[in-house]
Amino acid sequence: MSNLIDGKATAARCNQETAEDIVAMQARGIHPGLAVVLLGENPASQAYVRNKDKTCRQLGMYSRKLEVPAETSQKDLLGLINQLNADPKIHGILVQSPTPAQIDEAAIVRAIDPSKDVDGFHPLNVAALAMDDPSAMVPCTPLGCIELLKAYDITTRGAHVVVVGRSLIVGKPAALLLLRKGTDATVTVAHSQTSNLASLTKTADIVIAAVGRPKFLGAEHIREGAVVLDVGINRIDDPSLPRGYRLVGDVDFPSVAPKCRAITPVPGGVGPMTIAMLMRNTVKACRQIHHLD
Ligand code: NAP
Repeated sequence: MSNLIDGKATAARCNQETAEDIVAMQARGIHPGLAVVLLGENPASQAYVRNKDKTCRQLGMYSRKLEVPAETSQKDLLGLINQLNADPKIHGILVQSPTPAQIDEAAIVRAIDPSKDVDGFHPLNVAALAMDDPSAMVPCTPLGCIELLKAYDITTRGAHVVVVGRSLIVGKPAALLLLRKGTDATVTVAHSQTSNLASLTKTADIVIAAVGRPKFLGAEHIREGAVVLDVGINRIDDPSLPRGYRLVGDVDFPSVAPKCRAITPVPGGVGPMTIAMLMRNTVKACRQIHHLD
């Protein structure tokens, strides 16, 4: 399909640039390193962590995968975070979400050294993003969305972008990035209490769907010629597949795609960009920690 935004190919190009940055840093005796902490054995989380570890190694980055039991206490996890904060080999720290019930995720996010917070969830990084501080660590998924728009020459200046979802991980940081000077979009953020969602999304030049509901946005939500970025990753049952499920986005791709100027598929759209931006963020963190710029 000619209107398909290929996240896999774009992520591969970003990763190539990151690998070149890593080679240049290594020539100066600096080796960027990422630590990913996984609690328990959630199969989807295990797959995400495996992917992050694999990509790190492919790009020549130091990777440490810390798999700890699901029953790990808050105190022990905080102890682990403190060790990683102090470890000079580690420039990025990520605790894979979701965490078990005994873990206070907000407290864990606050315990990560903001300079190593490659997820961009620490309050200091949230504030830095809101203040357009270029040193901010910015959440990877919305960063990936902006990169896709750039890669496909999709103009944001003066465009009306409707972001559906207001989470701290996707919706809110996406809105802040789109509002930045230089990106210059006019942004509307919708959520579960928004009235007449379709009448809003229908006015959008660009729709970013981050709802967490399979195939939630249909053809009735999208105007002819719009650009749609589908952030959603939802598992739905599919007994015809050996694994028993398939992944779909928050957009009903078959009905929406024919109307779009450009659209991301699921999988192969925003997902690969998230990992590419995590790699880029780790290199940025390393560069800032070592005052390389
Ligand atoms: P989230 O924290 O559950 O947030 C979902 C947002 O959607 C909330 O703001 C919610 O509104 C809004 N919403 C729910 N029902 C709605 C409705 N009927 N109409 C309008 N808005 C509605 O989810 P998230 O973490 O942002 O993730 C969103 C999706 O992206 C999920 O499918 C997730 O798996 C996926 N994701 C993908 C990647 C990737 O790498 N591609 C990364 C992160 C997340 P309220 O605030 O009012 O509840």
